[in-house]
Amino acid sequence: MYRFEIGDILVLRKQHPCGSKKWEIWKIGMDIGIRCLGCDRKIRILRTKLEKQVKMNQTEENERKV
Ligand SMILES: [Zn+2]
Repeated sequence: MYRFEIGDILVLRKQHPCGSKKWEIWKIGMDIGIRCLGCDRKIRILRTKLEKQVKMNQTEENERKV
């Protein structure tokens, strides 16, 4: 079970056609809005679907680096 927050950077299992696997969360509601960090495309995905797609949440790691 994942806890999603706006601004989280997620690494998904599937690669986007642009070659990136990283997405940033921009909306949380009934579904989750994510933005591809490779091509800036915004999509919405059901939370249950997204949970299956997530390989890693990089947010904590990024915060430590900053
Ligand atoms: Zn993309």
